[in-house]
Amino acid sequence: MSASLPAPRSIAIVGASLAGASAADALRRQGYDGELTLIGAEREPPYERPPLSKSVLAGTEDEDRVFLRPADWYEEQQINLRLGVRTAGLDAAGQAFLLDDNERLPYDRLLIATGSIPRTLDIPGVGLPGVHTLRTLADARAISADLAKDGPVIVVGAGFIGAEVASVCRVRGLAVTVVEPLAAPMARALGEEVGALFADVHRAHGVDLRLGEGVTAIRGAGRVEEVVTLSGARIPAAVVIIGVGVRPADGWLAGSGLALADGVVVDEYCATNLSGVYAAGDVARWPYHPAGGADATMVRLEHYDNAIRQAENAARNMLGEAVAYAPVPYFWTEQFDWMAQYIGYAERWDKLVYRGEPASGAGAIFYLDAGRLRAVLSVNRPRDLGALRKLVGAGVQLDSALLADESLDLRELAKRL
Ligand SMILES: Cc1cc2nc3c(=O)[nH]c(=O)nc-3n(C[C@H](O)[C@H](O)[C@H](O)COP(=O)(O)OP(=O)(O)OC[C@H]3O[C@@H](n4cnc5c(N)ncnc54)[C@H](O)[C@@H]3O)c2cc1C
Repeated sequence: MSASLPAPRSIAIVGASLAGASAADALRRQGYDGELTLIGAEREPPYERPPLSKSVLAGTEDEDRVFLRPADWYEEQQINLRLGVRTAGLDAAGQAFLLDDNERLPYDRLLIATGSIPRTLDIPGVGLPGVHTLRTLADARAISADLAKDGPVIVVGAGFIGAEVASVCRVRGLAVTVVEPLAAPMARALGEEVGALFADVHRAHGVDLRLGEGVTAIRGAGRVEEVVTLSGARIPAAVVIIGVGVRPADGWLAGSGLALADGVVVDEYCATNLSGVYAAGDVARWPYHPAGGADATMVRLEHYDNAIRQAENAARNMLGEAVAYAPVPYFWTEQFDWMAQYIGYAERWDKLVYRGEPASGAGAIFYLDAGRLRAVLSVNRPRDLGALRKLVGAGVQLDSALLADESLDLRELAKRL
């Protein structure tokens, strides 16, 4: 951490999205009145990505509503917002970074908030028109234009983005096939048992869900026409959306001396191994200390809430505070009539406890490891969020029978801790 550095007079933030804009906002709110530059590769000012796979693709939300701040906010806050500009390298010894046109920009403090980039598939046909990934507003516009053709949609990958896109496309009345190599949707994050509940929801809404299946080629004469699978099926497609995960946008930092390990490695103060350089959001890999004293795990979370909180935390530390980042992680996903909220972080668990009827769309599933609550997935019960945060954040041994007991208010249970 760099708490002993002199107060900064110029701060640069690379990545003008959720983490970058949140950090800029937090710096000004903390009273920082020096030079503040926010640099982003996209042409749009910072916007929210979650609506892209939900209301924007559904066509129910006006695109203008996704922007994080009014257009004049950046000027009012004296933030030098430079859009459509990409950084190409970092000269840490010279406390400067390079833009792709070779312009060199010095900094006293630097926040890396370059987020993540969709992975794609190394198979024939991925470059055909009609084949998409979804990360940006530009991607969402292109997909929406193709969905308007009303042809069959194939979603490759049933992670969160793939599952949300499949849901939105079905709600639009389109024929949707999802091809996923794992045994259940979102199995990596939620586990197969819980993923299977989502599989049921998708099937009940008419999604043709092909699990344990891969895609080997995408074919078409001038435009996508079909997808070929590992088992030899040929599925007609007017649009293909590939949702096979993301990787951190840290390529521009190679060779800079910055510690990288599938993301920019930071400590609990969001500080990298280089003096004055911090990272936050999807790009950062940081030590998560589960409540209850278990060993820290290095994690890189690709969630909205993390991007905001970690950026705010980094901002304070860039100004000389020493505040450890110790959140109870949180994300949500919306699929059909399910609003599912996940609190905590569990890479492994030895017991799942069910409360209510999550499979019928109202309840919760608790992930316990050696009796300690590590995470919970709440389905359509947003009012429980505060209590669940408290329960997971306490990291104590919890009686499964109490968690499962619907007659016991979770808020009451949380108060007892
Ligand atoms: C479609 C979609 C739906 C989502 N839905 C949810 C949800 O329901 N719930 C949830 O919790 N999370 C959701 N997320 C995840 C959430 O949006 C991300 O965690 C969040 O956007 C991360 O913010 P970030 O600022 O760290 O990175 P990003 O949003 O990835 O922004 C990074 C920015 O840096 C720019 N950049 C990259 N490299 C450079 C460079 N070299 N020079 C300059 N600029 C650069 C990029 O162009 C980008 O604008 C969703 C994401 C997507 C794509």
